[in-house]
Amino acid sequence: MAYKHSIDVDRCKGCGLCVTVCPKSVLEISEKVNTKGYFPAYQARPEDCIFCTTCCIMCPDVAISITGTAEPGEQRVEAAATEEA
Ligand code: SF4
Ligand code: SF4
Repeated sequence: MAYKHSIDVDRCKGCGLCVTVCPKSVLEISEKVNTKGYFPAYQARPEDCIFCTTCCIMCPDVAISITGTAEPGEQRVEAAATEEA
């Protein structure tokens, strides 16, 4: 399973909650303003992300998502992960 972490920059209000809760200090607040005039969060150290979903859960604006892509032959792994959740 390959995971992708993404932040919808224009939904983000730059509150910094995700930056605070990330256990791996992956996130920081950007110095570039978004279309709504806020400074959004971004992944400063994406290589450290463990895809724990804490930032997604904490974001009050539902701006962060993690998507998973099953590789061929990984369906059994995906089913097991769903049962545990
Ligand atoms: S998924 Fe977890 S490790 Fe990755 S940025 Fe969010 S809180 Fe940090
Ligand atoms: S918690 Fe959400 S709104 Fe707040 S800085 Fe992070 S992505 Fe932006």
